[in-house]
Amino acid sequence: MRNFFKGVRRHIGRLDAQELRNQYNLIADEAEFLETLFETNAEGIIVLDAEGGVLRSNPAAKALLGMEPADAVKTMSIPLGKASKREITVTYPEEKTLETRTLPIKAGTLVYLRDITAEKARTEDELRIGATRAVRELASGVAHEIGNPLNALGLNLRLIERELPAESPSREPVAQCISLVERLDSILKGFLNALRPSRPNLAPGNIALPLKSCLDTLKAQFVGRSIAVFLDIPAALPTVALDSAQMEQVFFNLLKNALEAIRDGGKIEIAISADDNDVTVSFSDDGLGMDAETLAHLFEPYRTTKEHGTGLGLMISARIVRDHGGTIDVQSREGCGTKFTIRLPRIERRIRALGNG
Ligand code: ADP
Ligand code: MG
Repeated sequence: MRNFFKGVRRHIGRLDAQELRNQYNLIADEAEFLETLFETNAEGIIVLDAEGGVLRSNPAAKALLGMEPADAVKTMSIPLGKASKREITVTYPEEKTLETRTLPIKAGTLVYLRDITAEKARTEDELRIGATRAVRELASGVAHEIGNPLNALGLNLRLIERELPAESPSREPVAQCISLVERLDSILKGFLNALRPSRPNLAPGNIALPLKSCLDTLKAQFVGRSIAVFLDIPAALPTVALDSAQMEQVFFNLLKNALEAIRDGGKIEIAISADDNDVTVSFSDDGLGMDAETLAHLFEPYRTTKEHGTGLGLMISARIVRDHGGTIDVQSREGCGTKFTIRLPRIERRIRALGNG
């Protein structure tokens, strides 16, 4: 373009009227073309004179700034006649981050505006994820470091306990130490589990099996505390995609919470049912129930109302259920009881869902 104009300028004295008209038409076409580029450019462009007044601006500039560029530039303290680059935030009509670049030109200053809101959000997300990962790794490293000496401590305490004569006054404090170490150990395991979840190993299975196995584990407690357990399990159940060991952990966490919420002689009802889409397992207890505050933060880590709670059970359970493609819901009334409901998709539905993308 530049060379073209230079050429015309050099020879303009020698051009006749017809040739001048031709050149003029060429330049008019070119100007129209540039005008279109200017008007439709997605980047905002503002041309400022030497004093910073707006000579021209394109529609994108107005759209990005959310107001007339002539008004906006007054508040932007743009460096005149200099090359520069910076980020500004505009809050109207919505919050946006704009990158502004300036370039000195003959007429004054050229200002480019570009919306970098999405770009910036993405970078911040990446930074945050990276930082979370680093913290996780550090935390699990520390947890492992604590875990090993803790194990040794537990083993040695048990050796000492075994050596102590039955009537020794040290028996009591040693037993206390052992139970404290066990408690620390279980907190640590829960913590590591929460940090490093293993993906479920899904295979078609019957949801009743891990439930029964879990009930066996807890049987002694039910009997010891005279808890009435009501079961409603249909003989035939549709298969679900299942990691039995993980689902047993979920049931264990829910039943343990129920046991901790009810008085001796209380009641737990467990029901399994199926419809066209889901297999549903529900656990109802007639225990303490939860207040609004507890309900609002349920499934969040380290939220516990118990003196010796870890606040990890439900968070881990919810994640396992989610990894199974299912949902977990809760209904609770303070002083009346609590019902947890787990829904897992029937295997045909899962396959259908996957097939449909
Ligand atoms: P933890 O049992 O270690 O406190 P959980 O994640 O298992 O951690 O449970 C979090 C909290 O949810 C409990 O402290 C308790 O307040 C509440 N909660 C869970 N299940 C029940 C239930 N069945 N009845 C009453 N409250 C419950
Ligand atoms: Mg619990």
